[in-house]
Amino acid sequence: MDIIFSERCLEYHTLGHPEGPARVRLLQEHLARQGFTFLEPQAAQDADLLRVHSPAHLVRVREGNFHDPDCPRYPNIDFYARLAAGGALLAQSRRGFSILRPPGHHAGKDFLGGFCYFNNVAVAVRSSGKRTLIVDIDGHHGNGTEEIFYGDPQVTYVSLHRIYNYPGTGQASRGNCLNFPLPPRCGKGLYLETLETALAQAGGGFEELAISAGFDTYKEDPLASLGLEVDAFYDIGCMLGEVGVPTFAVLEGGYIPEIMGPACEALIRGLSDGARFSSSPVS
Ligand SMILES: [Zn+2]
Repeated sequence: MDIIFSERCLEYHTLGHPEGPARVRLLQEHLARQGFTFLEPQAAQDADLLRVHSPAHLVRVREGNFHDPDCPRYPNIDFYARLAAGGALLAQSRRGFSILRPPGHHAGKDFLGGFCYFNNVAVAVRSSGKRTLIVDIDGHHGNGTEEIFYGDPQVTYVSLHRIYNYPGTGQASRGNCLNFPLPPRCGKGLYLETLETALAQAGGGFEELAISAGFDTYKEDPLASLGLEVDAFYDIGCMLGEVGVPTFAVLEGGYIPEIMGPACEALIRGLSDGARFSSSPVS
């Protein structure tokens, strides 16, 4: 699996903000040591973003005309957010894993939030137009992704996340959006059981699997721990690989920089091993 990355996504930060560059820097360095190949993305264009977001939202991000304590108005954030969306587009076309920041799953058609400006995974899914299963393993509910795809017959959205956590949505399933809130620090057993149930409910017939890959379910994560050890990400990867359709992944959260690399590598190795045992081959 190729890794989509650009040094440029490390350029911006605010001291003390949990969504800082160290988390992606250490992730990239770890994957480089493991011999992964890196591809540089292009920034997403208006036409890519407008498949998901309103014209007013594009103007809002471009002009920095927003006020959200979780989404600082970094200079040039429009470029960095477009680059992350472009990373997701490249991940989709190359069956890769985009590790760019900022993340995306809290950004909706007409709103930003939770460190997210544009919804990267949604931009990629809409560009392909394929019948897609999105599985969001970040410890927070992807309220933006749900808002964008609710009622879309081409897409099924599955999210496992910590109950009563930011942003407060995703407490129950609705339509094509299947939500599985889990108790804090529930651990691997319940998590994997729930993922199996979720995938069974999602059904089959998908042409593509898109993963919103957050690692803030790790046991010591300050924002969304579900009590998972690094090895759990291998098991999650195996289960998702067994879905047996072409797959790409986009980074969401994860706030302990030191575990980002090992957790991401475990997920990728699981995806590869799971695909090997699935009934239909992954292209
Ligand atoms: Zn998260």
